[in-house]
Amino acid sequence: MSEKIKRCEACEDPFRWNDDVIEVNDKFYHKNCVELYPTGYFAMLDDEPLGGTENEDGSMAFEILDQDEYLEDAE
Ligand SMILES: [Zn+2]
Repeated sequence: MSEKIKRCEACEDPFRWNDDVIEVNDKFYHKNCVELYPTGYFAMLDDEPLGGTENEDGSMAFEILDQDEYLEDAE
């Protein structure tokens, strides 16, 4: 596995190409791994505030990561 593969800062699982990904302060998380609050969208992880995020709806990993930073479909 490429060392460039990005991993979720919360669960440390590598992102797959179609994971919903939230970017917070240049770190990446699965959308499902953080709680998002609609007050300007602030991401929390285990009650620790991570910071604001612009892509609160989540973006597919392949949209915001480089091609060698996520797992391709393994089939
Ligand atoms: Zn995760």
